[in-house]
Amino acid sequence: MSIFNLNIQNENTGNKIVAGLERLSHVFKTLLWEKAKEFGLSPIQIQILLFTQYHSDEKNTVSYLAKEFNVTKPTVSDAVKVLEQKKLIAKYNDSSDFRSYYLKPTIEGKRIIKETEQFTDPVADIISGVSEIDKEIIWENISNLIAKLNRQGVVTVQRSCNNCIYLTTGGTTYFCNLLKQPLHTKDLRLDCPEFTQAV
Ligand code: SF4
Repeated sequence: MSIFNLNIQNENTGNKIVAGLERLSHVFKTLLWEKAKEFGLSPIQIQILLFTQYHSDEKNTVSYLAKEFNVTKPTVSDAVKVLEQKKLIAKYNDSSDFRSYYLKPTIEGKRIIKETEQFTDPVADIISGVSEIDKEIIWENISNLIAKLNRQGVVTVQRSCNNCIYLTTGGTTYFCNLLKQPLHTKDLRLDCPEFTQAV
């Protein structure tokens, strides 16, 4: 079955959802490309800057970034080399293992991050006009879709409630045993700093 075959695509809503999601994936790629070109960087270089700015040191390694962005370690290393040459990122030794290092943006890197991180604004502006009820429905479905894709191994890295050891579910109710609070659909996190992989 090909959702690119228009007869098949228009047969039912499910096929149109898949085709729509595929089109949306291009939107983010295009927006990121446009921003990257403006600053003479590649999309992966901007993604590395953004990730290392907002995640903890132990995640800001070449291996973790390669998994996060589904690329090879040499691809990340090459991107990091350019960011270092441009003085946008710096390497810091890991105090627990002198052979390892983690990455953090420099002051100039942070300035570039401020200028580039709004590449998602065209989508954010549209979503801000959606009712809270509709936002919750959209979020619940996106969250479930990502969790299922993770179980299939398509989404490799997940730091969301769905996969976290601290989450207890009872039908449609959720509870975070770390934060000691119930989680409503709108509270479920996509990327939680306290996430711990469930076994
Ligand atoms: S620790 Fe974070 S990811 Fe885990 S259940 Fe609580 S809020 Fe969700």
